[in-house]
Amino acid sequence: MSKHRFVAIGECMVEMAPAEGGLYAMGYAGDTFNCAWYARRLLGPDWTVAYATRAGRDSVSDGMVEFMAAEGIDTGHIARDPDRTLGLYLIQLTEGERSFAYWRGQSAARRLGEDSAWLDQVLDEARVAHVSGITLAILDPAGRDTLCAALGRAQARGTHVSFDTNLRPRLWEDAEAMRAGLLMGASVADTVLPSFDEEVAAWGDASPADTVARYRDAGAGTVVVKNGAGLVTAWTDVDGLVEVAPAPVARVIDTTAAGDSFAAGFLAARLTGAEPGAAITRAATLAGRVIGERGALARGLFD
Ligand code: AMP
Repeated sequence: MSKHRFVAIGECMVEMAPAEGGLYAMGYAGDTFNCAWYARRLLGPDWTVAYATRAGRDSVSDGMVEFMAAEGIDTGHIARDPDRTLGLYLIQLTEGERSFAYWRGQSAARRLGEDSAWLDQVLDEARVAHVSGITLAILDPAGRDTLCAALGRAQARGTHVSFDTNLRPRLWEDAEAMRAGLLMGASVADTVLPSFDEEVAAWGDASPADTVARYRDAGAGTVVVKNGAGLVTAWTDVDGLVEVAPAPVARVIDTTAAGDSFAAGFLAARLTGAEPGAAITRAATLAGRVIGERGALARGLFD
């Protein structure tokens, strides 16, 4: 098995963001793609970072694939669906507060759980596979089963599966389906990366220890519970409980991609030999810098 392939699987959408003069700037974004983008910048040239999804065969989909390739992402596992195209979201600014409107219900990515053989190809030779709660939420129940079964097979072959729970209750049929999906994802994951505020809302957790216990009991070997500016509470089957305080951030500009960059920072650090506490420090340092910049992809940090 290659030791140098990082694969993120999920949905990347067209993003329409407010620009000068009432115009909108078009870009491409999505949680798992953001993570891949940061991983690409953090991992050395001996790593391939791939993004796996389904897109259409139209020019908007071509534009996304070209954009990813230009960012150094391997696009060889982007399946093309002749009947569908990308999802889209629009950011609106009202007195400085961002709100989002989505057109994603019929996106090509919703079908990425339909083809078991394709998923096995995507995961073949992956050292790491990263998925999120959004990746699972956009699939139908059969697609979730198919994706998790493929992740389980990859895990058995030695792939490290990372699962960022990224809860979006409105993407799931109901709260029960969401909770079942989270446990299924965790059951095939080595590392689970929940955010405490979301876990409180979904499960009523009283403390990060409750969050750790649930995903540990579901089968994860590493659980890293983020909590905004608060303490990161992690547990690994090797090192036990680890707590790290993120460095204070002087000015929070835009929290988009805090969790996505944290995941990339944590995984990249662990993959290159860092202990859990050091990996959290590196992840939180990156996330803290990302939220000091506008937008999901903080290019300025890597110039
Ligand atoms: P969250 O998913 O909101 O808990 O954020 C993920 C990570 O981003 C946290 O674990 C922190 O490392 C970082 N982060 C988010 N918000 C803040 C903040 N206000 N100050 C410092 N770090 C933050």
